[in-house]
Amino acid sequence: RTAVVLLTRDLRVHDNPALASACSAFDRVVPLHVLDPALAGRSANRDRFLHQSLADLREALRKRGGDLVVRHGDPVAETIRLARAVGAEGIGLSADVSRYARRRERRLREECARHRMFLRLFPGVTVVEPGGLTPGGGDHYQVFSPYHRAWQGARRRAELAAPRRVRLPEGVDPGRLPAPPKGDSPDAAPGGESVAQRRLEQWLPTLDRYDDIHDDLAGDLTSRLSPYLRFGCVSPLAVANRTHDPAGPFARQLCWRDFHYQVTAAFPDIASRAYRRGAREDWRYDAPALDAWTEGRTGMPIVDAGMRQLRAEAWMHNRARLITAGYLTKHLGLDWRPGLRVFHRWLLDGDVPNNSGNWQWVAGTGNDPRPHRGFNPVRQAERYDPDGAYVRRWVPELAGVEGKAVHQPWRLPAGLRRTLDYPPPLEVPGTDPVWLR
Ligand code: FAD
Repeated sequence: RTAVVLLTRDLRVHDNPALASACSAFDRVVPLHVLDPALAGRSANRDRFLHQSLADLREALRKRGGDLVVRHGDPVAETIRLARAVGAEGIGLSADVSRYARRRERRLREECARHRMFLRLFPGVTVVEPGGLTPGGGDHYQVFSPYHRAWQGARRRAELAAPRRVRLPEGVDPGRLPAPPKGDSPDAAPGGESVAQRRLEQWLPTLDRYDDIHDDLAGDLTSRLSPYLRFGCVSPLAVANRTHDPAGPFARQLCWRDFHYQVTAAFPDIASRAYRRGAREDWRYDAPALDAWTEGRTGMPIVDAGMRQLRAEAWMHNRARLITAGYLTKHLGLDWRPGLRVFHRWLLDGDVPNNSGNWQWVAGTGNDPRPHRGFNPVRQAERYDPDGAYVRRWVPELAGVEGKAVHQPWRLPAGLRRTLDYPPPLEVPGTDPVWLR
């Protein structure tokens, strides 16, 4: 008896319900990844991370006597073709929520029915499954706090060990895995389950201090697990279980992740349309301002620092994401969607639910119960980068400016200002930002 497991957002052997279930119920299992040309090229950074993660997964499966089978093309056509060639009874897959993933799942279901195979969906992309918690009278939680309360008490599935042995059917060509493509960001983290495991173990001793340190921009002490969670190199449930305290501040962040997944499952247009009815639509159009923001040359140091970290590391600190996104939407008055696309192009952790959910939250079009809150970038900078070390790290033009003066270079003496190769703050017609006075 044979089954195929199509691996997409679950590139790991530990706590992978789809893989574990196939390995315990079937004699032969084909762990398959289909390199999908429709997804390739959206982000060179993520393409690279994906290839590294696949190489790592292949090694882990080979150690268990199996292999990662790699194909290239339409994931539905390729999966069905392979499943028929090996005489599989059916296909296992981790359930995912984006519009693209749901469509792939629907097409697979139709094809499986046509060829008399089963399609079985498994949890594993979130801690608590989207749809696993519903408020009375609704299909999903629209506000975070009640979701968080329900999430803490939710029953969790049991965490699963990695399969000890994986046996491929005879004669399957594993397929070639091309060398990882070149990414765009020189300092991007490498992909793979083994890197994720090391990262988690190294970071865990910091957990007790998370509440105090997670907003310290220069300290940079958050887990940086987000790209590994994005590709499923680490199981979100396994991470949550290691943190012990489901009410703690770190678990709360994992809950935010689940929250946006359950919103996306119910509102698949989240990347393109305001979630909140009646949200503002009067965005300005200003291509030079968008370019300056994208390239980290707005003249607002904390914003430029964040955008440059993004380009260098394919990752940005959460506080800097809030500040840069707030500056684009609430100060420059530009549409959140181009901002979202810039993030999506660079971020290793870029995904539809978290990127869109957070952008909409900041822009006030999403599920923030206080959609009109503002982000004063100077006040944020002084609070979360009090002596300016984060700015000096990422904006070398200002490296010689000491202390928190680095956050407001427009206040420096004119003589000194002229020696800095750094632009004045962008002007926005019709606004008088208090922090420039
Ligand atoms: P930690 O602080 O160590 O948190 C642990 C984990 O919790 C993270 O890895 C992440 O999976 C989850 N998490 C933390 N904060 C959030 C949050 N606000 N929303 C959802 N999950 C969270 N996160 C993404 O994974 N992908 C995105 O595309 C993304 N886009 C964002 C866009 C904007 C405008 C903003 C404000 C935030 C975005 N985030 C996104 C959320 C957050 O910034 C990152 O998850 C976090 O910075 C990752 O770093 P970390 O792993 O060190 O986080």
